[in-house]
Amino acid sequence: MALASMFPRPATALEVVSRFHNMNAISSFIVNVAPTRVRSWHKKLCPSQAKADEETAAKAAARTTDKSSPTIFDKIVKKEIPATIVYEDEKVLAFRDINPQAPVHVVLIPKDRDGLTQLSKSDPRHKDILGHLLYSVKVIADQEGLTDGYRVVINDGPNGCQSVYHLHLHILGGRQLKWPPG
Ligand code: 5GP
Repeated sequence: MALASMFPRPATALEVVSRFHNMNAISSFIVNVAPTRVRSWHKKLCPSQAKADEETAAKAAARTTDKSSPTIFDKIVKKEIPATIVYEDEKVLAFRDINPQAPVHVVLIPKDRDGLTQLSKSDPRHKDILGHLLYSVKVIADQEGLTDGYRVVINDGPNGCQSVYHLHLHILGGRQLKWPPG
C-alpha cells in the first residue's frame, strides 16, 4: 500500500501508529505496555480504534493478570505513584480517573483488595466492604456536587472490559449520560 494513500495528510505520530495497528505489534504495545497517558492520547485521536483497543486490553488483562499480584491501584493506595485523591477513610480510597469519561470520573476502591479482584469473586465475608463502598459513592457524589444524578459502573471480567483486577467502582457525572451504554 502506498504511503500517500495511507497518510493523505500530515499525520501525528499516534495516527501513524494506529494506521499500522492491524499490520504489526505496535498497537499491542499501546494496549499492553504504553503508559496510561499514551493510551489516553490515542483514545482522543483515534476514538474508534481506541475503543477496540480497550476491549483488546481488557481481554489481555484477563488473560495475563496474575490475580494475586499487586496492581497499579495498590501503588496508588501506598502513595507510590501519584493520583488526585478526592476521598479517603480507613477502608476505601477514591481518586480521579487518569482517562476521564465524564467531567467527573472518580474511581473508588477498597484499600485492602482481600481477594476482590473483581465483583464476581466476592463472597459473604465481603458484604461489609461492598456496602461501605456503595455508601461511599453517595458521600463522594455529594462532595462532587452531582446533584442532578450520576452513574456507578463496575466492569467485571473481559466482557465487562475490566482492565485493572482490583475491584473498583467508577462514579461518572457532570454531564447527561446516555443509555444504553456501549
Ligand atoms: P476498568 O477498565 O478496569 O474498569 O477501569 C480501570 C480504570 O483505571 C480506567 O478507567 C483507567 O483509566 C484507570 N486507571 C488506570 N491506571 C490508572 C492510573 O495510574 N491512575 C489513575 N488515576 N487511573 C488509572
